[in-house]
Amino acid sequence: MPELPEVEVLRSHLHECLPGLQVRSVTVLKPRITRPVTEAQLAQALVGATFRAVLRRGKHLVFRLNQPQGHDAWMHVHLGMTGRVRIDPAADAFPRHAAVTLALGPRDLRWVLVDPRQFGRVGLGQPHGLGPEPLDDAFLPEHLALALASSRQSIKARLLDQSVVAGIGNIYANEALHRAGVRPSRPAMDLRPAEIQRLHAAIRHVLAKAIAMGKAMELDFADGMDGLFYFGQAPDLESSESPVPSAVEAWGVYDRAGQACRRCGSLIQRSMLAGRATFHCPRCQR
Ligand SMILES: [Zn+2]
Repeated sequence: MPELPEVEVLRSHLHECLPGLQVRSVTVLKPRITRPVTEAQLAQALVGATFRAVLRRGKHLVFRLNQPQGHDAWMHVHLGMTGRVRIDPAADAFPRHAAVTLALGPRDLRWVLVDPRQFGRVGLGQPHGLGPEPLDDAFLPEHLALALASSRQSIKARLLDQSVVAGIGNIYANEALHRAGVRPSRPAMDLRPAEIQRLHAAIRHVLAKAIAMGKAMELDFADGMDGLFYFGQAPDLESSESPVPSAVEAWGVYDRAGQACRRCGSLIQRSMLAGRATFHCPRCQR
């Protein structure tokens, strides 16, 4: 499931090729992806508009376009579990699992959201209800402390709440908590200031490291490895739940139940927390 780093890498690739291209038509093949927005509403907002920038907010891709009359049009995309955005030649057949497509001029290209499991979402305007961007300079430990202060929820569940910090999902929540030495089940309000400082730094470290690994990878649309990766590996298109073994080599705890902690050698434990697989080291994480 793509989290902030995977979306950021895809954003940077799309930002290299989309600006300057104009939307000629909109085709919605899977209406649940755009609901409640209809194909006609998407077309009305986007046809004739030119892509200006591809931005990111949390796990959302945010597309800024500009209409010939001068006003901006915004579209945002959440990739859900298996969504990908790719740019194909317009003459190609629609790829398998194509959900939403935009025909683009003047170079006869096509923007395509591919989504086998259809948990992705496309909307107009900008995404709402998101907390701070963890990699922004403006995001300080004090902001994290404030968001945790009055919550009895587990710290892991808090980190998955997109209104606390935008863009963290299950993998990077597990990884950040291990790096910070904080047990995932701790009530958020019980974290001490020093632990919040460490967690703040750990969140930024694991996300920045993953982005750097992803940006070092070649794009290969033909193999479906279109900018999505998990610590350096693109998962198989159909099986987002089972990352390839080499991806696991880079993780500290995620998907490493029963294996030795890289820091202390204790065996990593797996549990369920807020309905999500949770991994922690019983010795390093207190
Ligand atoms: Zn350990």
